[in-house]
Amino acid sequence: MKINVLGVGFDNVTMDEAVARGIELMEQPGFHYVVTPNPEFVLAAEKDEEFRRVLNGADLVIPDGIGVIFSAKLLGTPLKSRVPGIEFSAGMLAHMDKVGGRVFLLGAKPGVAELAGQRIKEQFPNLTICGTHDGYFKEDEPVVQAVKAANADLLFVCLGAPRQEKFMAQHGPELGAKLAMGLGGSLDVYAGVVERAPERWQKLNLEWAYRLKKEPKRIGRMAKLPLILVKAVKARLTGGMKEEV
Ligand code: UDP
Repeated sequence: MKINVLGVGFDNVTMDEAVARGIELMEQPGFHYVVTPNPEFVLAAEKDEEFRRVLNGADLVIPDGIGVIFSAKLLGTPLKSRVPGIEFSAGMLAHMDKVGGRVFLLGAKPGVAELAGQRIKEQFPNLTICGTHDGYFKEDEPVVQAVKAANADLLFVCLGAPRQEKFMAQHGPELGAKLAMGLGGSLDVYAGVVERAPERWQKLNLEWAYRLKKEPKRIGRMAKLPLILVKAVKARLTGGMKEEV
């Protein structure tokens, strides 16, 4: 059963459970996709019905962002833990390394995916980076064909939300991959272009604050985040979040 946080249904999984589910999905026939919603996604999905449908149509919905965890708690349906997309992706890469799988990296500014590929290969030498492509393209079709031709097992889709989720849902099986994962700015982190918060900040659930410190221009985007908590309290008080998603 999914945990409904303001209209988005989350899987109630720990990091290990999420990776185990991801591996299971890769072993099943057909195409599957994973989404990693944070509070910004949830607020955007309230206004964008297609985005909400695409999030709820994913095979695995992992809670990325402490605001989602707090909201679920306020709603009276707590989630087990935060599952940062970047850590989930590292777990999936470790599996690819173990089985000698093929990974395609799509997204970020020109050159970043290649650099991320080199870094990933240093850490996971037994997997194959079967292709890369930047995320600043106008037409989807040539990119879909490039991914398909690369015959990937696992596909990173790092175009920012909601574009990455809509891309996975729209092109799905055409991509030829077993599993696609929408991972926001992860390629920037793998490439070393953007640093993740030090562990101390992560442990204090202050990763968002570190990001704000590094990229002050995010203040506009972040200012509306407390809204998710207010909405969660309101939904709890009016008993409005009981329906299944
Ligand atoms: N991006 C992209 N194509 C675009 C817009 C963004 O590939 O048209 C990339 C951008 O370079 C960045 C990622 O998508 O690497 C999104 O980063 P953001 O910080 O918005 O994502 P978050 O990690 O906050 O989900």
